[in-house]
Amino acid sequence: QATIKASGNDPYPDWKAGEPVPYAALCTTFSLVEMTSKRLLILSHCSLFLQQVLRLTPKDLLPTVQLMINKLAADYAGIELGIGESLIMKAIGETTGRNLAIIKSDQHEIGDLGLVAAKSRNNQPTMFKPKPLTVRGVHEGLLAIAKVQGHGSQDKKISGIKKLLSAADAATAGKGSKGVDITKDKGGPSEAKFIVRFLEGKLRLGLAERTVLVALAQAVVSHEAALEGKTVSAEKVTEGESILKTVYSQLPSYEEIIPAMLEHGLFNLPDVCKLSPGIPLKPMLANPTKSITEVLDRFEGKEFTCEYKYDGERAQIHFVAPDSVRKYPAATTTLQRDSKGLSSIFSRNSEDLSKKYPDVLAKLDTWVKDGVDSFVLDCETVAWDTVNKKVLPFQQLMTRKRKDVKAEDIKVKVCIFAFDLLFFNGEPCVKKSLRERRKLLHECFQPVEGEFQFAQFGNTNVLDEIQTMLEDSVKASCEGLMVKMLDTDESGYEPSKRSRNWLKVKKDYLAGVGDSLDLVVLGAYYGRGKRTSVYGAFLLAAYNPNNDTYETICNIGTGFSEAVLEEMHKALTPMIIDRPKPFYAHSSVPKDQPDVWFEPRLVWEVKTADLTLSPRYKCAADEFEGTTGGGKGVSLRFPRYIKSRDDKNPDQATTTRAVAEMYRKQEAVAKESTGKRGVD
Ligand code: ATP
Repeated sequence: QATIKASGNDPYPDWKAGEPVPYAALCTTFSLVEMTSKRLLILSHCSLFLQQVLRLTPKDLLPTVQLMINKLAADYAGIELGIGESLIMKAIGETTGRNLAIIKSDQHEIGDLGLVAAKSRNNQPTMFKPKPLTVRGVHEGLLAIAKVQGHGSQDKKISGIKKLLSAADAATAGKGSKGVDITKDKGGPSEAKFIVRFLEGKLRLGLAERTVLVALAQAVVSHEAALEGKTVSAEKVTEGESILKTVYSQLPSYEEIIPAMLEHGLFNLPDVCKLSPGIPLKPMLANPTKSITEVLDRFEGKEFTCEYKYDGERAQIHFVAPDSVRKYPAATTTLQRDSKGLSSIFSRNSEDLSKKYPDVLAKLDTWVKDGVDSFVLDCETVAWDTVNKKVLPFQQLMTRKRKDVKAEDIKVKVCIFAFDLLFFNGEPCVKKSLRERRKLLHECFQPVEGEFQFAQFGNTNVLDEIQTMLEDSVKASCEGLMVKMLDTDESGYEPSKRSRNWLKVKKDYLAGVGDSLDLVVLGAYYGRGKRTSVYGAFLLAAYNPNNDTYETICNIGTGFSEAVLEEMHKALTPMIIDRPKPFYAHSSVPKDQPDVWFEPRLVWEVKTADLTLSPRYKCAADEFEGTTGGGKGVSLRFPRYIKSRDDKNPDQATTTRAVAEMYRKQEAVAKESTGKRGVD
């Protein structure tokens, strides 16, 4: 419950009931949010604004929320903006008549394209006053830009951006005023600034998606109470937040939830918005452990089960039989249709992988038993050796094409290992115990060797037996074990949560530092000797969700094959930017700078021997300020490249907090064994 209240009743006074939400009103709120780091105040600003939307123009609630979370649609829709700097600079130049060289030099000096756009906008001579932007207009404009494809798409995108930018800040344009002073108030509520940042994929307001969800719940609860002439209690607000969080975790789609909420009210949402085939949910995640004894301590006295941890790609398979299609309207647009019904495979990130695995979907009817009308399965796809009938290492899977795979061209066969059932024949099963879900899974699906199998499991709590199972899993080309609570409420499926009821025991943890890290590539160094035509080493960073920054953690030059280096050179070259983004936390010492900087796009899995503190890197530096005297971040010693994590976005990289935690754990263990450990 917010204890800090934003001042004023309505954040934006000039908009009238029934009018489209002025984009300027949203930007005013963004600017208020940008000016504070207090979470409760941010929440309060957002909630107040959303209440105003609900009161005046509820039909714009959906695009308003989408613009607030920097997403034009739910993840499964596959709509991505992330437009590169050079295209945006070109569009700013063409809109404002400013020379590209000047814009580039501004960008060099200011380092924030949003502010460069705001500044450029002020210089623009205005012949006529453009019509003010609206939230729905901006949403439509951005969506059109995102959807442009094919021949001449660059020019079309530029023209779409120009259209938005030339209408931006209509209120200040043409008044002969200097408009936004970019040196003050972080640039203020400039529309051009926020449009450009949206295009870049980062609003940089310190506004987490989760905060918007909570603000939305608070706003709706207050609004619904006001309509009934009631006052709102703190308990009611908390209940509303909890309902919306649960509903969203099972049906992560504002396109589905917001219209239903407006029609039926927030408190009735659980009856109308349920987990459903066609809307992928964010998978449940596990916590790392360092030893089997840690597992036994955690699960003491509880029934648990160990499953092989297959090393492939997470796959959420959705299916609706032809006769049931009308029950799931969303599925008709999101799933692939064939004579057997609707089906699709979604990645861990809700990306539709159906075009990568058409062979799996084509054979679906061989492993689905009669009488099954709909399901959502949680599985791992692994590469399969058809001759020796066994699992192949992850690297084999990566050689498969990502898109438009034709069945006849497939060289690497895959097998699906199913480990959970989330929805079955019209009913979500996430609240059932794992024992019940597993029973249903085994009863209703038919294993087919090398195509669809159940994850190997053993229900034991005997240390030696778990140890043997771990060794067997490794021999079977798996990464280790997943240990899961089996009975009671604690064994329910918790979408999108890193749960303490699922533990991962990887073979490497037992010897090393713990989990591997997923890090974002920020820069590179030119190669020497044999590697002159490619990059020889890279600068990596962890993600800090609190202030939306990427904090450098190591240089890496080990673990790459020649082929991987070539492939990375090809992938990274178009992502080169002139200078580091303002949201990169890195050393300012000249000798520490990489030869080139990149847009933050690629995520790599990396292993390390050890963690240390170093002034050269900035990861979690603020957390160790007290102990190191400032300036030292956590860094990796002897980092080694493992694989590219195409299924993760940069903001799903390992967090700086998780890195700090790993470092502290390591230090605690070292202290225990040696009694001392220094900082280098
Ligand atoms: P995280 O998902 O924890 O952020 P990650 O993506 O790097 O990290 P891992 O540490 O490899 O994942 O562990 C979890 C992943 O293991 C799951 O996302 C899933 O893809 C895979 N997996 C393989 N076998 C199983 C299983 N039996 N049960 C659950 N997950 C499994």
